[in-house]
Amino acid sequence: MPLYEYHCQNCAEDFEKIVRFSEADRLPPCPVCGSTETHKKISAAASLGGSSSGGSRSSGGSCGSGGGFS
Ligand SMILES: [Zn+2]
Repeated sequence: MPLYEYHCQNCAEDFEKIVRFSEADRLPPCPVCGSTETHKKISAAASLGGSSSGGSRSSGGSCGSGGGFS
């Protein structure tokens, strides 16, 4: 799930929130003052989890000359 940064326009608080994709269009209320006048900040912290995807490495096996060369 992506992590978004928000900025509260009421109290100028910056906060982060992990948002599900189904909630990505909603703006969460400010955790400090409860105002809903928040807006999403564009941050580059979208891929901080480093989720390893699959890792199906099918190409390879080129080093299969099984020894016996002496
Ligand atoms: Zn606030």
